[in-house]
Amino acid sequence: MPVKFDNDDDDNQSHAVVDIYRCQGKKGDEVDCEVDPIDRISTDLLIAADGTSRTIANYMEETDQRERKSMNLIQRLFAGKPFSVTRYIDDNRRVYKSIPMKLPKDWRPDLNYSARSKDGGMNIDALPANRDGSYCGILLLKEDDPMAQANVDPETLRGFLNEKLPQFSSMLDDKVVAQVAKKHPSFLPSFRSVGPRLNQGDHILILGDCAHTVKPYFGLGANSALEDVSIFSDCIDDSNENMIDAVHEFSRRRAKDSETLVRISRELDRPGILGTVTFIIPIILDAIFNKINPKLFAPNIISMLQRDDMTFNQVARRKRLDRTVQVAVLASLMTGATWMAKFVVAAIAKAIGRRSSTVSLVLAGITAGMIYSKKSLTQYLNSDMAPADVLAKMKSPITEDGETLEKDVKA
Ligand SMILES: Cc1cc2nc3c(=O)[nH]c(=O)nc-3n(C[C@H](O)[C@H](O)[C@H](O)COP(=O)(O)OP(=O)(O)OC[C@H]3O[C@@H](n4cnc5c(N)ncnc54)[C@H](O)[C@@H]3O)c2cc1C
Repeated sequence: MPVKFDNDDDDNQSHAVVDIYRCQGKKGDEVDCEVDPIDRISTDLLIAADGTSRTIANYMEETDQRERKSMNLIQRLFAGKPFSVTRYIDDNRRVYKSIPMKLPKDWRPDLNYSARSKDGGMNIDALPANRDGSYCGILLLKEDDPMAQANVDPETLRGFLNEKLPQFSSMLDDKVVAQVAKKHPSFLPSFRSVGPRLNQGDHILILGDCAHTVKPYFGLGANSALEDVSIFSDCIDDSNENMIDAVHEFSRRRAKDSETLVRISRELDRPGILGTVTFIIPIILDAIFNKINPKLFAPNIISMLQRDDMTFNQVARRKRLDRTVQVAVLASLMTGATWMAKFVVAAIAKAIGRRSSTVSLVLAGITAGMIYSKKSLTQYLNSDMAPADVLAKMKSPITEDGETLEKDVKA
């Protein structure tokens, strides 16, 4: 826990001072810390990369609030935007259990293996833990799934694995299955961003998950943390190793992007109808428009987020522009179609001697039936699905050039 920021009056002219406490336990409320610090560290540069614990960022927020309270109205007016942590409500919670596994000798040890159930309730992703075929599987389940509880009967879990994931079940011995069955589930992290800056004064900056926490569906957590490191390295070079300038430059370059990354990622993870509007319909529209005119319309937002020649803000702006043009095109088409439909309805009504309203109702019913029977559309409109489940159902690769090494094993 930091005790002082920008401390100019200590002997060695260091500027961030951190007290170290001995703590025990896992996370959150379970952690017990000793009352007195065991050490005090002074430093010219404190890089907070403490992940979802977010100790420094929370402390920055508290400090900011405290300082603002002590200001008069005029001072507050000129103090700029307050520093705050945006804590999004997680309305699409998933839990996971990790499963250590060893691949058979004839399976490639450098691929991401994954499988998903058709209804979207279960999803497993296994990534290499080393180069010798040891893997870490993440079994993702809904919070109320019986298999997502602690102390599941190992035989029941084995039955579930045999039925849903026979490819993986055969790799796991009874000891591992018993360990996994006993485990408490873990929650995927909730979306969090900080802003409007990523620094506190001249000597402290925050990066990685503590600045921008996203769910791991699109591989943007560790990768954006590494990107932060690379950008900070550029800032140090560009400022001729003047660390104070580098700290401010990093915040200037990256703060807005961090917030945008979290905002976009959250929009891609809304439940039910909201998820259909913010994630599924845009993905379908992008697939159609990009296919018709790839020069005019960019690919879907997930593949855009992977591009290293665009910042997250530039991606957001580009997609806003795409969406505006798409809506304008669709609105024009629909206006034209409405005029055409009116003309056709009037012609049919006249030919069969019925009222136009009766013909309209019958035609609307037939159209709705045809849309509903199109499995390709309705299969995506399932509120139980997480984004990763929808991606698995897309026929075309979601990344721009289809370069993903993922080998999907359909459950
Ligand atoms: C199940 C799961 C699967 C994921 N899969 C992917 C993926 O496939 N691809 C991807 O890009 N991302 C993935 N992520 C996200 C990725 O793990 C994180 O985005 C990444 O680890 C963030 O790195 P970080 O260094 O900011 O934080 P962390 O890796 O969380 O590191 C923070 C470190 O700080 C330590 N710490 C915390 N508080 C203190 C303190 N007070 N004092 C001292 N040390 C402290 C912690 O113990 C930890 O070691 C996944 C996350 C989860 C939960």
